[in-house]
Amino acid sequence: MSPVIPIRPAGGGCTDAPVLRERGQREVFCGLTGIIWLHRKIQDAFFLVVGSRTCAHLIQSAAGVMIFAEPRFATAIIDERDLAGLADCNDELDRVVTRLLERRPDIKLLFLVGSCPSEVIKLDLSRAASRLSRQFMPRVQVLNYSGSGIETTFTQGEDACLAAMVPTLPELPEALATDPRPSLLVVGALADVVEDQFSRLFQQMGMDRVQFFPPRHSDRMPAIGPNTVYLLAQPFLTDTARALEARGLKRAAAPFPLGVEGTTLWLQAAAAVFGVEAAVFDRATSPGRERARVAITRHRERLQQRSVFFFPDSQLEVPLARFLSRELGMQLSEVGSPYLHRQHLAEELALLPEGTPLSEGQDVERQLDRCRAAQPDIVVCGLGLANPLEAEGMTTKWSIELVFTPIQGYEQAGDLAELFTRPLERRTRLVA
Ligand code: SF4
Repeated sequence: MSPVIPIRPAGGGCTDAPVLRERGQREVFCGLTGIIWLHRKIQDAFFLVVGSRTCAHLIQSAAGVMIFAEPRFATAIIDERDLAGLADCNDELDRVVTRLLERRPDIKLLFLVGSCPSEVIKLDLSRAASRLSRQFMPRVQVLNYSGSGIETTFTQGEDACLAAMVPTLPELPEALATDPRPSLLVVGALADVVEDQFSRLFQQMGMDRVQFFPPRHSDRMPAIGPNTVYLLAQPFLTDTARALEARGLKRAAAPFPLGVEGTTLWLQAAAAVFGVEAAVFDRATSPGRERARVAITRHRERLQQRSVFFFPDSQLEVPLARFLSRELGMQLSEVGSPYLHRQHLAEELALLPEGTPLSEGQDVERQLDRCRAAQPDIVVCGLGLANPLEAEGMTTKWSIELVFTPIQGYEQAGDLAELFTRPLERRTRLVA
């Protein structure tokens, strides 16, 4: 019986393709946005943004119509004050946190999330987090990270949040740590439904030492050891990966689990860690592969030969472009990403059609000119650009939807394709 050997695309595609790097005005959300999906994922965590009224508006409007009896995020508004007022600021923060934790015994993990205003930048949130952690130990752990628009874009908020948790991950107990068998850590917030589907597939392949990070509850933080290998489920986790490697973990390289091909290659990388037999892998994955292929086929008919232009937003752009071009036959006018991590995206870039125009960062006016010149059938962009482009007659897809919707894995491949057919059909109806 032969074990699964992950298929490593040997270069080619866009591996060495030139990238247009732009450092001009950009139109992207800040990292606070990540709170919207992270608070759903870690069910006993609370996110306290230390920020301004703008930050409070942003997370309220990004949260849309969600109404909670007991919300799990809030903003502590820090008004303008001079340096002498900083001591009061710390006292005020302590008071807000104390009140919150007294009122909410369900909170086990509290994140102090930094933001842009200069008053917040002057505050030492990591010191505040240590001080409050000591005060509320062991009932609540307090951590901090920055979601500031100066330091982070959109999905980098999740990266900063997970990176802040890595140093707190427990070590495997000694008996397990010295066990030469590997364990796998799947890294990146996935919708629970997707995580459950992957868990079932791992179980069917006999992979019993798999953990997910972030966990659903803070008291179930994954334990790691010298034989733990990590596999990224999201492409925007640069700092988290660095922090895991600083703790001795090695990365299993793979494309990301979008579409049939991406999901299969990603699962192969996971299976290879455990030396799963190829026949076992095929048996476990072929029903899902087949269902996904059928689900995608009807979308392929509608999307084939249509062109798509990606503005940089979520860092999911390269894996999405790979899926759209290879499985749905779409043409790639431009694939823009806020940050192109050559190493983490190596397997993706190798699969992109040669000659795909790639860009990193943004100079929004120039990019808009390129987009108008290309006249793509569909534009993937942030909310700020979507309305003006629609007014110019273009069809748009909000990139934020691709982060909020479960799109990974076989069972979601058809839904992912549909996210692109729907706006095109809506436009056809409007024009008809
Ligand atoms: Fe707050 Fe800065 Fe984000 Fe604006 S960009 S919402 S000020 S963190």
